[in-house]
Amino acid sequence: MLSFSLFRSVIEDVGIGITSAGICGNQSTSESSTFNKFMEGFLSDIRVATPKTSDFYVSSIRTHSTGNVTLYAIAQCIENTTQTICQDCLNMAYNNIKDCVPNTEGRAIEMGCFMRYSGTPFFKDNQTTNIRQFLKEVDSSKVGILVAVIVGVGMIFLIISISLWFRLRKRSKAHKEDSSDLQAAVNFSYKDIQLATGNFSEEHIIGKGGFGEVYKAILHDKNVVAVKKLLVRHGRARVEFDNEVKLMSNIRHRNLVRVLGWSSEGPELLLVLEYMPNGSLDRFLWGEARGSLTWKQRFEIIFGIARGLAHLHHEFHIKIIHRDIKSANILIDEYFQPKIADFGLARFHSEDESHVSTKFAGTLGYTAPEYATHGHLSEKVDTYSFGVVALEIISGRRCNDMNSHRSDMYYLLEDAWRSYENNMHLKVVDENLDLNESEQEHVKKIMEIALTCTQSPVGIRPTMSEVVLMLSNERSLVRRMVGNKSTFITLDKKD
Ligand code: ATP
Repeated sequence: MLSFSLFRSVIEDVGIGITSAGICGNQSTSESSTFNKFMEGFLSDIRVATPKTSDFYVSSIRTHSTGNVTLYAIAQCIENTTQTICQDCLNMAYNNIKDCVPNTEGRAIEMGCFMRYSGTPFFKDNQTTNIRQFLKEVDSSKVGILVAVIVGVGMIFLIISISLWFRLRKRSKAHKEDSSDLQAAVNFSYKDIQLATGNFSEEHIIGKGGFGEVYKAILHDKNVVAVKKLLVRHGRARVEFDNEVKLMSNIRHRNLVRVLGWSSEGPELLLVLEYMPNGSLDRFLWGEARGSLTWKQRFEIIFGIARGLAHLHHEFHIKIIHRDIKSANILIDEYFQPKIADFGLARFHSEDESHVSTKFAGTLGYTAPEYATHGHLSEKVDTYSFGVVALEIISGRRCNDMNSHRSDMYYLLEDAWRSYENNMHLKVVDENLDLNESEQEHVKKIMEIALTCTQSPVGIRPTMSEVVLMLSNERSLVRRMVGNKSTFITLDKKD
């Protein structure tokens, strides 16, 4: 069985986060005419069998009848998924990987599953799964008996379910406030959302991004949510949307905006999100609430973003690279905690018209050079953008604005490096912040961490888990200072 850390490392191995294309080798078999059918048949069997296994994992070997070709293949879905989602995901992976045939190597990685085959062994012979048992057709003579048994069991199940449903309904009414946390993603009807947003009226618009408008919606149970329209042009995205959203809704972390549901039946794809009353971070940095955040709040926001990203990169079953971390994608909740929005959406950007830059899903100024210029994607692309956002939080300056107050005009990143190297880091700090001496030292350390994140080459940039560790140390340092500095005593009270 392939462990999930290995699953992750396989994904890392190909140097990408989530892709939707087959990654093929460059050697073809000489047996190509018979090979194609044999190969596709084998991969198709793997696709069918994997969702039926208890752990959504299959590794199998098959030799062609000529004895000339032996193939090794594995398929796996993420752990906490359902058979149907796993099946849908592997169907997509299969459609991509079969384009690799007659190459002797192929891989396909989707957001919730992956497949790989090779003519060279990449697992041991004794690690295979017997997939025959999952491929057997049901004997037609036994169908009648089977149907009768299923109907009987179904009836019993139905009676138990109904009585359980009544009980649970009673309980959930009593715990209505808590229950929203436990709800799974909901497939909303287009009509309900239309109603909740006043037919997508102007008054309900709370923002507009590259994908389309964002609306405040009041559902019939009076819950307030945000509805994001996704103007997705390429047809494939529409097909993949439901599965992707179900997976996104499985990702829960206090620093990630929750995906509550979706709707794909109307003219647009709609994403239903947890509503964040304070809007996005940029509002607090250079928008109408400019200068209102204290240093303590800013530090907690930096720390929260780092934790959210570390979760996306390292703690979920598959590595998710955000690719578009920027202050506009950080939302602020009522306790001034940050939540990262739009994770998992980068792949829905239309390839021929990215709203901001060119073909990559990113925003100029925040995007790591290796991704912007060569399309090299790794988790460190997010580390880079995180570093830039942290500098924006420290300075209250937009990364792609020149510093107009100075005669030697620099972009934020350049300015921060120069000031830091000349031990003049306070020059970059937001003038709205009135820092005492120990806070000034603290800001310098956080700035140092932020700058580390923007280094190139990629290898010397820390991972987000390492950043979290560095920031935790800084946090405990702040706590240790509490004994001496009264300012920190009041600021740390809430923790
Ligand atoms: P892009 O889509 O190009 O990355 P963006 O992140 O600014 O740009 P959106 O994510 O569509 O665009 O958001 C636009 C604005 O809508 C945000 O700046 C924010 O003010 C508001 N918004 C988005 N999601 C929510 C939410 N869940 N709760 C409250 N407001 C939101």
